[in-house]
Amino acid sequence: MDTQKDSAINLFVQKSGGRVAALLEACTRCGMCAEACHYYQATGVPEYAPVWKVELLRRTYEQRFTLAGRAKVALGIEKPITNEDIEEWQKYDYAACSLCGKCTFVCPMGIDLASLIKIVRGGLTSAGVLPEGLHKKCVNQEEKGSPNGFTEKEWADWFHSLEEEGIEIPIDKKGADSLIVFTVLEITAFRENLRHMARIMNAAGENWTVSLKGRDAFNMGAVTSNGKLMKTLADRIVNTAKELDVKRVIVTECGHGFTTLRDGYPNAIGQKLPFEIEHITEVMAQFFREGRIKLQEGYWDNGRKFTFHDSCRIQRTGGIMDEPREIIHHLIPTKYQEMAHNRENSICCGGGGGMRGFDEGYDNRMAAFTIKIDEIKGAGADTVITTCTNCRLQFLEGFKHHNQTTEVTGLVRLVSEALVEA
Ligand code: SF4
Ligand code: SF4
Repeated sequence: MDTQKDSAINLFVQKSGGRVAALLEACTRCGMCAEACHYYQATGVPEYAPVWKVELLRRTYEQRFTLAGRAKVALGIEKPITNEDIEEWQKYDYAACSLCGKCTFVCPMGIDLASLIKIVRGGLTSAGVLPEGLHKKCVNQEEKGSPNGFTEKEWADWFHSLEEEGIEIPIDKKGADSLIVFTVLEITAFRENLRHMARIMNAAGENWTVSLKGRDAFNMGAVTSNGKLMKTLADRIVNTAKELDVKRVIVTECGHGFTTLRDGYPNAIGQKLPFEIEHITEVMAQFFREGRIKLQEGYWDNGRKFTFHDSCRIQRTGGIMDEPREIIHHLIPTKYQEMAHNRENSICCGGGGGMRGFDEGYDNRMAAFTIKIDEIKGAGADTVITTCTNCRLQFLEGFKHHNQTTEVTGLVRLVSEALVEA
């Protein structure tokens, strides 16, 4: 039977193809990625440097595939990977990494460190060495459909909950143009987003639906680099979209759920999807641009001072940076200020990559959030706008933890409340 280290090493060996080898070989150890990592910056822990987080992958590659690596082991300069190493790296690659991609963005050699860290996570996951909180969420989502165990029954109740207000949410409507997929996090924490979404879609005259089969954009397989689970969970949405014959799937305020469906899943299966995957932010901007929704100009220029948090998945890696600003500048023409680090160069809130799903990363998350607090203060803002529920929850927790009175809100809410009804 494989030990933990064997399972992890087997996965690292499988992944050590030409691309990974080239990336590992290209590193000059310049240290620029360390300065970019908010966990390293906030704590000064040397092992939180991104390049150290891929050390197990580097050692596996060198020791298996290079003469120098084999010589290092033979001469006792470097040790083969042990079970203790596998346990230790859980502290770095899970509890001190939000997969934010900032290290990738700054590396002068173009090394996609975040993708290498995902491989290390995959090795740890295959060895069964992942935080217990995430493991439970994986089991729940595979068996019950949502990471925190909510079943189809609860989702149906949520979707029907607006009927007494006269708002009908279309469920599994065949032939709809757009399938809207929420995450359980969004619906449980910000239930009003269901109402906001219905208002926006109806105001735009969109032919839309939600589904009870493909209902949760959350993807615990992507978070834990478990390719099989990622595909199983994404298949539920993709197959539903095919059955309903929609033209596009709109992912609401969830970062990793969006990029997993748009990029990760098609790349993994090697096929283009027969429909578009779009984030609600770009859809709202499209409606606005085409005159399908009208928004009261300056509606949120009401005394509060706003700034925008570029989320790592929707903005930095998702590329949706102009669209939120197009809407924000219309709604808040005078009381809006960018943070010093924005767009691709933004600083992660600290809560992504599954970090909010387990206790062991809490101190690092809160430490990293101090950098974000400084950025918000620098912008002179008292309210932060986000397009990702997970970021929004990290801001809520971070503000509370650090006794800040700053508020956070979602762009969907700002748009819905500023709608000019025809
Ligand atoms: S920034 Fe790039 S080249 Fe420099 S240490 Fe990090 S991975 Fe290596
Ligand atoms: S992906 Fe982000 S959190 Fe992870 S090592 Fe790179 S900079 Fe740090």
